[in-house]
Amino acid sequence: MKNVIFLAPPLAGKGTFSDYLEKEFGYLHFSTGSILREKSQQDESLKKILESGELVKDEIILPLVEEVIKTREKSKPFILDGFPRTLQQAKKLDIILSGLGVLDVVVVSIDVEKETLIDRVIGRKVCNKCYRSYNLNILAFKPKVNDVCDSCGSKLITRDDDNLASFQIRYKTYLESTSPIIAYYKKKGCLRVIHNDELDQTKSLNILRGVISEH
Ligand code: AMP
Repeated sequence: MKNVIFLAPPLAGKGTFSDYLEKEFGYLHFSTGSILREKSQQDESLKKILESGELVKDEIILPLVEEVIKTREKSKPFILDGFPRTLQQAKKLDIILSGLGVLDVVVVSIDVEKETLIDRVIGRKVCNKCYRSYNLNILAFKPKVNDVCDSCGSKLITRDDDNLASFQIRYKTYLESTSPIIAYYKKKGCLRVIHNDELDQTKSLNILRGVISEH
């Protein structure tokens, strides 16, 4: 099974795809957003940056990423969800991964129309413990019990940055900073694109399954 890097605009489904790989194939899921949100509970200035939708500085994020990759359980494949987000981070990641001898990587770009992403912002809820994502406006993604996580029973919350103003900034940042990475990985030959506009995700997940087991 290949290690996976997800590149996607906010609300595209990185979390849902990651949950699937974690449950079905035993992947380790490293979400830089979740790591930072946890850290921000003791760091007011970090909390403000996350709420604004701006990117956190490389001095903060790079050591965190290097640490989780270095200390991971090596027998399992891993997912990077939310990193890299800039070309500079992508180049740094190449150095980290080649230094650790991690070569089997596929980069999955998740492609979704902006209007669909906006629809999803309004209803998203996440578990405050295991970070599973739900959407109150999409039947297939509603929790079984209101405001309670189906997986671990913890409380569901609305992320501080799940509002239209923050979404617009995050989307703009994605277009400006993250999409050039797509060209970078395309040139390297390790990029795959999955369209995830459908509400029925079976098709996208089937494609994802094919991608991670390619030789
Ligand atoms: P996410 O959960 O992936 O949507 O990330 C939430 C927020 O965490 C982003 O809007 C950024 O403020 C911050 N963040 C996550 N990953 C990175 C990264 N690779 N570089 C800089 N900031 C990041």
